Amino acid sequence: MTSAVLSARVPVAIVGAGPAGVAAALAIERAGLSCLLLDKARFPRDKICGDALSPDVVHQIDDLESIAPGIGARFRASRAKIEMPGLRVVSPTGKVFDMELRHARRRLEGYVMPRLEFDALLVDSVRGARNIELRENWTLSTVEREDGGWLLRSAEGEEVRCTLLIGADGVHSVVAKKLGVYELDRRHHCAAMRVYCEGVEWDRPEPLIELHFIRDVLPGYLWVFPLPGGRANVGIGMRSDQLSQLDKPLRQVLEETLRNHPQLGPRFAKARMLESIKGMGIPLGSKKRRLSGAGYLLCGDAASLVDPLTGEGIGNALRSGTYAGEQAVRAFRTGKVGASDLLDYDRRVYGVLWGELRLSALVQQWFASTRRIDALLGLFERNPRFRRWLDRMLLDDSYMTHWNRPRYYLRKLGLLKTAG
Ligand SMILES: Cc1cc2nc3c(=O)[nH]c(=O)nc-3n(C[C@H](O)[C@H](O)[C@H](O)COP(=O)(O)OP(=O)(O)OC[C@H]3O[C@@H](n4cnc5c(N)ncnc54)[C@H](O)[C@@H]3O)c2cc1C
Repeated sequence: MTSAVLSARVPVAIVGAGPAGVAAALAIERAGLSCLLLDKARFPRDKICGDALSPDVVHQIDDLESIAPGIGARFRASRAKIEMPGLRVVSPTGKVFDMELRHARRRLEGYVMPRLEFDALLVDSVRGARNIELRENWTLSTVEREDGGWLLRSAEGEEVRCTLLIGADGVHSVVAKKLGVYELDRRHHCAAMRVYCEGVEWDRPEPLIELHFIRDVLPGYLWVFPLPGGRANVGIGMRSDQLSQLDKPLRQVLEETLRNHPQLGPRFAKARMLESIKGMGIPLGSKKRRLSGAGYLLCGDAASLVDPLTGEGIGNALRSGTYAGEQAVRAFRTGKVGASDLLDYDRRVYGVLWGELRLSALVQQWFASTRRIDALLGLFERNPRFRRWLDRMLLDDSYMTHWNRPRYYLRKLGLLKTAG
């Protein structure tokens, strides 16, 4: 439902129609409640990203099928994406670790798909929804508390009144800023650059997505992800608190590495950049934060939920968006929108995601040293059986939530038969 005139007062307004906002809107639609979905952009729009869609993202797209019929089929039919057969990790000294998704016990699908197309596909899924009013080109400018709800004003001077506000407006969340809960902690934040290229050479017909750990930016890395039509998404990311250790801009590190790196240099010799190098911050989920308060919920990048090792945030944006939408529905059913009532949302998000975020933060610390990355990748190289075991473990969904429980390892080693 798209209309020229905004509703006077809606139960829920969601600011941001990226993956988090769309997931929140669909969760509310599922319950038959009305919401307003606002975005400053008109879709399709670009979003600076590595464009990698993990198997978790694909599962969640499939899960949306019951509220957005056909979304899975449209996603699979899209020719804008390329399937990723797995992941390659390269240490600063050139040690290589390949992880193939086909080694997983069940089929795992991962893709690389430009956000221009992926986010448009998500937004298209709400266009026909009965209870979602989508408003594009609507830039949130101010937020005020009013009569137990919120008064939102756009940069264009339009007003929206809502009872519950969901901030899904990304890394520079205006909602979080206006509510006074925005925090940029440089130890838990990453600076990143992206550039689309063509003419990159690959060493296999079905290229893996590649993470190259580069000395200058550890524990950050440079990525090269294949795209359809011989293009590639290339970029670099580094923890923001470490940027001052560089003697040149991150952009220059990217350009020089693509020219001079012993493995990447020859492969980029004939490559061409298709745009200027673009930068954007990544809010890492390595630190717990308050995700809600009286009358509001934050999700996706606005809630800082990106994996601190890999920089993946789309899966957690979809999941936290869904939880925020479901929490909003519960709040309306019970009539409870106070800060303590909405705390259940924080508990649920961290209950599900914190194990994985914490593990990634620990591995991120390990990956701060060339010697330690080499030692780890060398260990995998020398021990194929250990490698296969590790492959299967990393490709097992339950690992990410149970990695910190000794029973998990005992069970995997066959020493414990009961579920851990
Ligand atoms: C360089 C880089 C590489 C990355 N690579 C990957 C990757 O390969 N895989 C992965 O899973 N994740 C990756 N991420 C992280 C991923 O991009 C984010 O985690 C994800 O986009 C979060 O989704 P979101 O819906 O929370 O926010 P967004 O996708 O940022 O959407 C927020 C929306 O809010 C809108 N908005 C913002 N301000 C306002 C306002 N004032 N008023 C109205 N609307 C507003 C924006 O227009 C936007 O549509 C990467 C991030 C970066 C920066």
